[in-house]
Amino acid sequence: MSDYKPFSPKQAARFADLHSDLFGDHSQLKAEEFGDGNLNLVFRVKNNRSSSLIVKQALPYARCVGESWPLTLDRARIEAQVLQQHGKICPDHVVEVYHFDQDLAAILMEDLHQYEIARTALIQGKSFPLLAQHIAHYLAQVLFHTSDFVMTGPVKKARQQQFSNPELCLITEDLFFTDPYSNHERNNINPTILPEAQKLWLDTELQAEVAQLKADFLSKPQALLHGDMHSGSIFVNADSTKVIDAEFGFFGPIGFDCGSFIGNLLLCTLAQTGLTKDPATAQSRQTYLKDQIQQFWQGFAAEFSQLMQQETADTSFQNSLYQQRFLQQVWQDSLGYAGCELIRRTVGLAHVADLEKIADPAQKANAETAALTLGRQLILQRTSLGLEQLLDLI
Ligand code: ADP
Ligand code: MG
Ligand code: MG
Ligand code: MG
Repeated sequence: MSDYKPFSPKQAARFADLHSDLFGDHSQLKAEEFGDGNLNLVFRVKNNRSSSLIVKQALPYARCVGESWPLTLDRARIEAQVLQQHGKICPDHVVEVYHFDQDLAAILMEDLHQYEIARTALIQGKSFPLLAQHIAHYLAQVLFHTSDFVMTGPVKKARQQQFSNPELCLITEDLFFTDPYSNHERNNINPTILPEAQKLWLDTELQAEVAQLKADFLSKPQALLHGDMHSGSIFVNADSTKVIDAEFGFFGPIGFDCGSFIGNLLLCTLAQTGLTKDPATAQSRQTYLKDQIQQFWQGFAAEFSQLMQQETADTSFQNSLYQQRFLQQVWQDSLGYAGCELIRRTVGLAHVADLEKIADPAQKANAETAALTLGRQLILQRTSLGLEQLLDLI
């Protein structure tokens, strides 16, 4: 990594121009850094004829914390290569990567300026009828096609090494599964709900189930996950949906990606009564979001089942009873990981705008308490809850 240096906007513009023909030879390029993410630099490079590209560059530390939290530059390679792998399988729903430079830890990609970040738009009360269907299609396709149903042993083992991603996985292991269940200094707890958070530190029954979910995260390499499937990693508009930000990708349990997506729709649903003054509006938003959760799981399950039935290469895994059990286990895992997401986004280090944007302190505390309660229920009851019962619980 001897050539590495964080880009100035000018250097980002040169990088974009060097690796793309979009701008032509003598164009006047302008670049600005505008990343609102937690970890990396993101530049938009434009010419004077409204063509534009995105340059995303990793920093040798986590941006949100600073240089005291060093972090591998290799995450840019993981991100570029997961997006490229997933993009080959499902080009409709993955941001296009044009170039990757390992020494500079920099990715040149498509500018999704005609889209909005799903989290921001959902908080503003916007509806996207196709969001859940598109994410269901994306996850069914990329997870199936990188799983043991189709990948032969040696190819899978080589890919697992390519995407072993230990440093970023460790962040998830800590923030998702460990910190919220103890009095950890990284936690970020609203003092009003401190007694609720403290209950988690003593809840050994819950902790046993979270330990199981963590063990599966560590040792169930079912498919090449996106790894950070929250609503801030999804760009959406009325007719199209694109996934970005795959630096946490690795071979892990399929339910982790599905559960992250479901968990973030649940957080938005629980935030509605605090985000919207008018109860009727809040209710119709909740109906829309619950409907998206339903469409997501039904779409994912139908497409994944069809793929298992029609495209499984390994003869052992062509057994239909095995396939039904596999999908049932993915559902249970998804509920468990969704529950973990609800809890860690409420009392852990990284919060979500859905809850943070609730202006009234009492309503914010109510929504946070509801997130902890629902999260606990999902984790503890994941082997007995069906989709209908999940929707009734909210
Ligand atoms: P981080 O890994 O730091 O979270 P993200 O990939 O999530 O970075 O990007 C941070 C922000 O940069 C996004 O929320 C979005 O506003 C912007 N961004 C990232 N990629 C693109 C893109 N391809 N097109 C347009 N904006 C983008
Ligand atoms: Mg050029
Ligand atoms: Mg991000
Ligand atoms: Mg990221």
